[in-house]
Amino acid sequence: MAARVLVVGGGVIGLSCAWRLAEAGHEVTLVAPDPGRDSASWVAAGMLAPVTEVQFGEAPLTELLREGAARWKEFATSLERASGHDVGYDESGTLTVALDTSDRAALDQLLAYQHSLGCTAHRRTASECRALVPSLTPTLRGGIEVPGDHHVDNRALLGALVQACRTKGIRFVPLSVEAVAAGGAGGGGPSVDLSDGSRLGSDHLLLAAGTGTPHIGGLGAAGLPEIRPVKGHILRLGPAEGRTGPPLLPRTVRALVHGRSIYLVPRPDGTLVVGATMEERGTDLGVRAGAVHELLCDARAVVPGIDELELLEAGTGLRPATPDNTPVVGWTALAGVAVASGHFRNGMLLAPLTAAAVVDLFGAAPGDE
Ligand SMILES: Cc1cc2nc3c(=O)[nH]c(=O)nc-3n(C[C@H](O)[C@H](O)[C@H](O)COP(=O)(O)OP(=O)(O)OC[C@H]3O[C@@H](n4cnc5c(N)ncnc54)[C@H](O)[C@@H]3O)c2cc1C
Repeated sequence: MAARVLVVGGGVIGLSCAWRLAEAGHEVTLVAPDPGRDSASWVAAGMLAPVTEVQFGEAPLTELLREGAARWKEFATSLERASGHDVGYDESGTLTVALDTSDRAALDQLLAYQHSLGCTAHRRTASECRALVPSLTPTLRGGIEVPGDHHVDNRALLGALVQACRTKGIRFVPLSVEAVAAGGAGGGGPSVDLSDGSRLGSDHLLLAAGTGTPHIGGLGAAGLPEIRPVKGHILRLGPAEGRTGPPLLPRTVRALVHGRSIYLVPRPDGTLVVGATMEERGTDLGVRAGAVHELLCDARAVVPGIDELELLEAGTGLRPATPDNTPVVGWTALAGVAVASGHFRNGMLLAPLTAAAVVDLFGAAPGDE
């Protein structure tokens, strides 16, 4: 049956769920101060990289990430159709390179683990790497090519999602949610108290507020796992005004630089997204000079040509992390209140899968699938 659904949060998770719920026939209202903008999703790199992201001991999460990646092509195509906007979905693959012999040994271990999980990944020599990406430093020690790890332009994606939501008639309420009240025993649905003092009712409520989720009042009995912020510094570099020419990178490049991880993700306009640090610093969003310096030094060690680019932006974002790094998607212990949060490093990658799971949770409206 079609339901009145309230979605709290305007990052990639809230917007994707709202759009797919409206497509499934629900009447959706989305509450967020500045949908698309004020979020980790706005600063993210947009890598869709389940294989490159493999972490030792997280095989079930890798399986989930691979399932997430498999949803992306269809999601991008239908979103572009629904919004009329290109989302910059790019299937050029990912190359991870090693800068010294220890980095090479670490990549070889990673490659063996990727193969043990059945992932497609190829060992490449230094000259094979440079044939794939000529702007790489000549001193690298080979790498791993993962043809199936793609990327999307996160900001184009968010713009397209907002547009698709508007086209579907979703109502946007540009406020914060202060507190949630569960559905009543008499059949009334859950409601939210808003920052302007008003209250909004619904049949179902979806909490998709990223690291803001645990700070919403009234969730003491919801049974949510801990969702903590993990800060990331990220840079955007671009060609100097008036400079044109072939893009510096034809695909995403990741690297181990004397044990530190770095990535450089190209955008169609020649911009490079360079990231990212992983820092446990609570909700602090300040940009630290030392973090920017480290990212620039490591990026320059991998692709010396970044020297010619301008530093367009240095930003930070907060990844919503759970204790086991796995997102939490499903009903809470509060009647009518569901959650989709805790996507940590993979919110972009998992958005299509999460939205599909939420539509299943709320049930599609008859005749509207
Ligand atoms: C530096 C960096 C790089 C990253 N790179 C990648 C990547 O390459 N690939 C990938 O898959 N993932 C990446 N991530 C992770 C990804 O960005 C997150 O997992 C994802 O953005 C989480 O989306 P979200 O919608 O849950 O939260 P957010 O994007 O943070 O959105 C939260 C939303 O909730 C709203 N909100 C908060 N509190 C309230 C409230 N009380 N009331 C109403 N609204 C509220 C906010 O305003 C915002 O709109 C990266 C993250 C960082 C920080």
